[in-house]
Parts: sequence; structure tokens; C-alpha cells
Amino acid sequence: MISMHELNAQLKKAQKEILDYQKNCNHTKPAMKMNDKNEIKWHCTKCDMFIRIPTQKEVTEWLKR
Ligand SMILES: [Zn+2]
Repeated sequence: MISMHELNAQLKKAQKEILDYQKNCNHTKPAMKMNDKNEIKWHCTKCDMFIRIPTQKEVTEWLKR
């Protein structure tokens, strides 16, 4: 069985890869989405990085879809 230490090492490696990926992304395709806390935010569709909080108007429009 895989050890906790090994799992944590893999997690760290994955987190670093995500950061590198986000650093190299131009975030040209942002989209609004709801996270697991039911917060609606703008995220990059390619790298999933948080971009900004939407305005109330944007949220209203998004919910109407
Ligand atoms: Zn991006």
C-alpha cells in the first residue's frame, strides 16, 4: 500500500504542477462557475485559476441561463 508520506509528496508535486500551469496560462477564456461553497466566481476555463468576483448584475445574468 502507498504510504501517507508518498501521497503527500505526490500532492505537493501536483500542486506545483498546477501553479506552473497557471503561471504559463494567459487566461484568455474566463467563465463564471459555482464552487463547492456555492460562491459564483470568474475562473479561467483552461487552468481553473480564480480571476475575480463577479458583479451582482453578472451573477443575476448567470443564474438566468
Ligand atoms: Zn488560465
